[in-house]
Amino acid sequence: MLKTTDTIVPSRNAQIQWTHGVYEYGSTKPVSLHDSAEAARTEAHRLTYSPDNLEEHRGEQWPLVQYTSSSRATSSRDGVQLGQVYAIASEKLKPLSTKLKRLATKAAKLGIEPPTWTEVGIVERERQERDGLGVKRFWTQRLTALAVSSTTVAVAGYQFVATLEGFKGEDGEYRNVLRINPSIEDSLIPHEYRERGPVCDHCGTERRRNQTFLVRKAEDGSFLQVGRNCLADFIGGKDSADAARLASYERDLAVALADGEGGGGYASVSMSTSILAFLSTVATHVRNSGWVSRGAARIDGGQATADEVLLRLHPVGAEQEQEAATLAAECPVEERDTAEAEATLEWVRGLDVDTDIGDSDYLWNLYATCSLGTVQPKEAGIVASAVAAYQRHLGKLRQRERQQSLAETSRHIGAKGDKIGTKLTATDKRKGANLLAPIPVTLTRIGGFEGHYGYTWILQLVTTDGSVLKWFSSRNTDSQGESLTEGEDYILTGSIKSHGDYKGVAETSVTRATLTPAAAAK
Ligand SMILES: [Zn+2]
Repeated sequence: MLKTTDTIVPSRNAQIQWTHGVYEYGSTKPVSLHDSAEAARTEAHRLTYSPDNLEEHRGEQWPLVQYTSSSRATSSRDGVQLGQVYAIASEKLKPLSTKLKRLATKAAKLGIEPPTWTEVGIVERERQERDGLGVKRFWTQRLTALAVSSTTVAVAGYQFVATLEGFKGEDGEYRNVLRINPSIEDSLIPHEYRERGPVCDHCGTERRRNQTFLVRKAEDGSFLQVGRNCLADFIGGKDSADAARLASYERDLAVALADGEGGGGYASVSMSTSILAFLSTVATHVRNSGWVSRGAARIDGGQATADEVLLRLHPVGAEQEQEAATLAAECPVEERDTAEAEATLEWVRGLDVDTDIGDSDYLWNLYATCSLGTVQPKEAGIVASAVAAYQRHLGKLRQRERQQSLAETSRHIGAKGDKIGTKLTATDKRKGANLLAPIPVTLTRIGGFEGHYGYTWILQLVTTDGSVLKWFSSRNTDSQGESLTEGEDYILTGSIKSHGDYKGVAETSVTRATLTPAAAAK
């Protein structure tokens, strides 16, 4: 994947079609694709909103499209498609090409079209990191743009959809973790396969199997669950090891490419950890340095929270032991972290399968993995994300409560055209406008979006008696030229533009406003 802020420089003769997912307002699925076909240096798009923060802005008066933080590009040369473009770190090019060669040999043996890979240019990525003294440094990383072609694996009219890894939870219920093939749309998988036991539809038996495969008939879209031992027989003409390789081929390729991108890397531990100890340590790290998913670590660099915690709990070798000891001394697990972990587990395990989880395969896998008492390294990434997911959930609840209390207190202020703390012109007076005194406010939220005319800041201000004012501003500075800060008190002057209503909260829009820090106004 590329970042929307990357700069792509295609090599000679190569064309790179860069596609940003455009999200409809309030949705987390792309509704259309916005092409920025570029043969030359591409102008970087600035990230405004990601699916993660869309929810809190749902229904507000933002623009109708949103950009995602990561995007896809494909490449072609002389009209021939070369495949999807990946940004590969230079030190990972060699190991990746070894892996791809191995996959190509495997593909040829299995009778499917082998992947091809071609260098098509350079990706420049802005990075920032803290040096040993804690000072932020900015630098530009040069990555290789590698176009990789791959095929969808289909055998005897069936496509491999997912590997189901099943286990019994602490409550004795059977649940599957879905490892979905990257070419499959998550939402395609019927919910019944989340909790279906280790059944083989091919031989009709149910017995202890850790792994089953979900296949879909291309003809009518129907699904079948097949046991590992029956897979060879099911697809015919392959031995069982080859059949399993075929089933996991697409996923293996995707994992190899993901490992080759950016930096990071999985901790290679094989033991399991108590889920409460694991999540308590995750809570500690999130509190100290924020949440970093494995996906974000791959693209942005740095170490994923889950891997940092695995390293801390199961260091391998002297160097890791040293690092683990430093981490434990610098950010000890506190009582509040364990409380947070317990509350997180209670929330995840209490999710309602129909109303809370619904179509979300992410939430399902989180629910399934958290129903166990232990964490395996393979599941560490998703289990660790529970803490951040719970915090987002709490944030939404708080936001809703705040909105409810504002709905009760907020009243429209003045009338359209009225001036706040400035002067009435002759025209104002003719129109019957009034002059209001400057209004003390608290800046409660700063948002914004990238529009055709540059960046627009959306500022929410609340008066001392709980009325809401909104200002669409081209700058985010106060009267002293300092950056505005959420939670700070200001004195507002300007004019009243309109009266509106959002989710039952009366809002007064202002224009040509100035915010003077309350401290400076005294
Ligand atoms: Zn079977």
